[in-house]
Amino acid sequence: MEDRGLIVAVFAAPVLAAAAMWAAFSTGVAKIEPRYVVKLDLPGSEEKIDLPPIQGPADTSRPLVVIDAGHGGHDPGASGAKREREKDMTLALAKSLRDQLLANGRVRVAMTRDTDRFLVLEERSDIARRLGADLFVSLHADAAQSTSARGATVYTLSDKASDAVAEAIATRENRADMVNGVSLSDKGQTVSSILVDLARREMRGRSIRFGELVVRESEGQIRFHATSQREAAFIVLKSLDLPSALIEAGFISNEDDARAMRDPAWRKGFARSLAQAIQIFLAEKQVPPITASSASLEPSGQRSSAP
Ligand SMILES: [Zn+2]
Repeated sequence: MEDRGLIVAVFAAPVLAAAAMWAAFSTGVAKIEPRYVVKLDLPGSEEKIDLPPIQGPADTSRPLVVIDAGHGGHDPGASGAKREREKDMTLALAKSLRDQLLANGRVRVAMTRDTDRFLVLEERSDIARRLGADLFVSLHADAAQSTSARGATVYTLSDKASDAVAEAIATRENRADMVNGVSLSDKGQTVSSILVDLARREMRGRSIRFGELVVRESEGQIRFHATSQREAAFIVLKSLDLPSALIEAGFISNEDDARAMRDPAWRKGFARSLAQAIQIFLAEKQVPPITASSASLEPSGQRSSAP
């Protein structure tokens, strides 16, 4: 009998509670505030965006470079004293680079965007992956509190930032995917396979090699920051299994750099140097080098998990 009493009590309690609440609401003791649900259509990760056209030689054995003009649409990126917007600078630079690569005629080229439109960071790398690109280059323009900071920097992917500056830049660039503090890009990958880990290590080494070539081939043409190559955790470069780099072409917050980036002749020179580095890099790909830098940059302590 005790059991039955307990069961009755268990079932009766919610009914009584509901009745009490109904009584409270209907008599106006408790007030129900109207609630609104705002639905915001965000670029979904489920829907794949259309792939951009591939330009250049029809020969599909030619390497493919995907150029990513940073920011765009509602995301202007950094801004300069003369209202220069990073998204415009990056698009102009990307077009210059595309034109230069097409003029050379050795590689195929695709652009993540060639208009002023917004793309989620992951969509950018996804385009490169789906197209089967051989190299991914994301173009940006830096900004700093100090207007004297200037010069270009080549960033490559690493879980650990090479220094505080690199970490701050990555944090700012990664913010492009934040809407009201909600990340649009939270498909963090768990890497469990040792093979994936090894492939990533090789890609990291190859990306660093590409960075070296960019700096080398730009000598006398592009002014580089004192630290010309840095590493940090850029979302746009994550989950890519191909060599990639994010290039901050200069500081939009610096008067001289901003003037240079506004100048089509400067952009052409920038594109020429970059195109040269890209072509050398892709030619080197025939014989993948195990470079000293790729060996020494291996993260430690992960080999022991091999089965
Ligand atoms: Zn940027």
